[in-house]
Amino acid sequence: VNDERIQEVVPDVFVGIPYPYDGAMCVVVGSETTLIMDGTSYQDFAKEFVDEVESRTRVQRRLCALTHRHFDHWAGLAAFDESIIAPRETREILDTYDQEWLTTNTTQWIDAGMLETEWLGTPRVRLPDILFDNQVSIDLGGLTVELIHIGGHVTDIAVAWIPERGVLFAADAIGNGRDLYLDESDGPSWIAALERISALPITTVVPGHGPVGDRSLIDAQLESLRTADHDAPRRSA
Ligand SMILES: [Zn+2]
Repeated sequence: VNDERIQEVVPDVFVGIPYPYDGAMCVVVGSETTLIMDGTSYQDFAKEFVDEVESRTRVQRRLCALTHRHFDHWAGLAAFDESIIAPRETREILDTYDQEWLTTNTTQWIDAGMLETEWLGTPRVRLPDILFDNQVSIDLGGLTVELIHIGGHVTDIAVAWIPERGVLFAADAIGNGRDLYLDESDGPSWIAALERISALPITTVVPGHGPVGDRSLIDAQLESLRTADHDAPRRSA
């Protein structure tokens, strides 16, 4: 995993993006625990990325977190054995994804050029085992990650707020540079959630897709949602 694909956006917060505009993952290194948030589509990428972060920081207790139901955020987490914390609804949905779902969809995405095979491994579902409904605070030692369920993009989606660093890991609540997948989304809920989140003192935004930016990405996403055609077909993200 080279330097184009791994970025320490602020101290102790690393972002991994396997291919431009592909689902992003984030690793937060506290003094006691390392939190792996989302896993991209790619188990082998996720593993190499976390190994690289640990080689630059330290090897210690790990915990995983998942923001929502989409493959390009959860599939790579199968590279790890540690517990996964996620919204309760995300687990309920992942529980319906059987082997047939995996085979049918991944074959279709590969054929359509939407999924690469280099880092994919053999896709399998790892069900989250620590669940929350509205909000949960994770103490990593000196750093806190607040997982906040917001809905909008999909009903189950949560974002992650790291107050000590002013970082919002927005997952697919925010995209940068390309339109996000809207087929399962609720525009008014999404807009209301982003308006609420924007009250936080955010300085860095890690979008679910596209380059890391500042809080202007929140306003750009709001503008895009207010003018979006929710019926137009879009690439899955
Ligand atoms: Zn998504």
